[in-house]
Amino acid sequence: MRRTWSLREKKWILNGLLCCAGVLILFFGLIQFYWILALTAAVIVLFMVLFWNWWRCPACGMHLGRMEAQGKFCTHCGQAIDWDKKQS
Ligand SMILES: [Zn+2]
Repeated sequence: MRRTWSLREKKWILNGLLCCAGVLILFFGLIQFYWILALTAAVIVLFMVLFWNWWRCPACGMHLGRMEAQGKFCTHCGQAIDWDKKQS
């Protein structure tokens, strides 16, 4: 069975990935190992892929844009966004 996430959980995961990337960049500033830079790039790519695939309106499927700018209603179709609905 495929694991499904609600939009709220997805937002947490996306924010978590951003925090990971931030921490990795800090580490790179401290110790400058190039594998940290590669790992940071991988985390950022993963974030972008998931952000593109996950951060969508449950009603119309349009991309929701910037994470912090998203309110209770979809800016495309005007439907209230159900943050706890499980989606694939
Ligand atoms: Zn919509």
